[in-house]
Amino acid sequence: MEEVLRKIAEVTSDPYTYVAELKARKNKKIIGCFPMHIPEEIVHAADLIPVVIWRGNESVTWGHAHVPAYDCGITRTFVDDAVKGKLSFMDGMVFNVRQCLQVGEFPLIMDRNVKPAYQKILYLPPIYQGEAVRSFLLEDLESFKTSLEDFTGKKISDDSLKRSIEIYNENRSLLERVYEIRREKPEILKAREVMQTVWSSMLMLKEDHNELLKELIKGMEKKTVETKGDRSKVILVGCLCQTLQFDILDIIEDLGMIVPDDDLYVGSRYFANKAQLNGNPMDALADRYQAKTPLCPAKGVWDVDWAEEVIKQMKDNDAKGVISVRVKYCPPHTCYYPDFKSKMMAEDVPEVMIEMEHEIVSLEGTKTRLQSFAETLSGV
Ligand code: SF4
Repeated sequence: MEEVLRKIAEVTSDPYTYVAELKARKNKKIIGCFPMHIPEEIVHAADLIPVVIWRGNESVTWGHAHVPAYDCGITRTFVDDAVKGKLSFMDGMVFNVRQCLQVGEFPLIMDRNVKPAYQKILYLPPIYQGEAVRSFLLEDLESFKTSLEDFTGKKISDDSLKRSIEIYNENRSLLERVYEIRREKPEILKAREVMQTVWSSMLMLKEDHNELLKELIKGMEKKTVETKGDRSKVILVGCLCQTLQFDILDIIEDLGMIVPDDDLYVGSRYFANKAQLNGNPMDALADRYQAKTPLCPAKGVWDVDWAEEVIKQMKDNDAKGVISVRVKYCPPHTCYYPDFKSKMMAEDVPEVMIEMEHEIVSLEGTKTRLQSFAETLSGV
């Protein structure tokens, strides 16, 4: 188990080197998928390697010439990395430009500066009622498939798409199992290790990640863990599109709280819902995209109460409180947060919001907020 966790930590500690080496090792082209919701299965079925684009590991410098300082962290670091040539190992990129205004800026910036060999814009529609939305979504997915076929010069058969969906579904099941064991033995993995495990799935070829997860699960099932009964369980929510600083996860645990489950993008949201293969594989992908839960603020869902969903998740995990992680300058999450907060207050649920910024100078303010929250939960 330690060996698997070491490998996972290695992959996520330097995704640039890992993905560049993966490309050379597999002799396949890399397609960067800007998070969230890109149907990676279609890229996989085209015999290309889809990787989910990540928040960069440096302070933004050149990127400031292309995007405003009030864009979110992953937006600014992605553009910074791209214009510096740090992502030149990516043969193609795909953006869901309807997700938020900031993603809508990318195609033009890329066109003018560092356009990859393949670039595709998706307009995955908000989840409103009606056939028009569904047919628009299917057309968008079809045009994605066709563009990849044009790029590779090879047709994507239904059978190869079904096979890719099965591999992705297996990955989802295995990640679900990791989460299930963590719920049974919450101290078996550190919160940073869980986030690294999901993140590594976004970077590795899914077949390889599945093998890694099987090893991890074997180790987790065998391992016994002594539970310290005095720790308050908390659910982490939000943090769209990107990882949060692992140091914040360590602070949460150092303050005596423990995370048995989460509602984060680089967390349970990434592997939630399988694509159900009952017929046409494109329909299965469209159905998965149109699932309303777990609620994603970037999908325009208005008839599901996010707070109610999280309160249920909290009760299922016997958790005492909720920590909302809001990425600074993320409009979709910001628009949903006031209703979320009101509901938490109305239901008397302990909840605290921390703001995540790419270039954090000091975590002292975050630590103070979390410390007060931990004391409230433990009744100090
Ligand atoms: S974190 Fe928010 S603002 Fe940034 S790209 Fe994602 S949805 Fe858009």
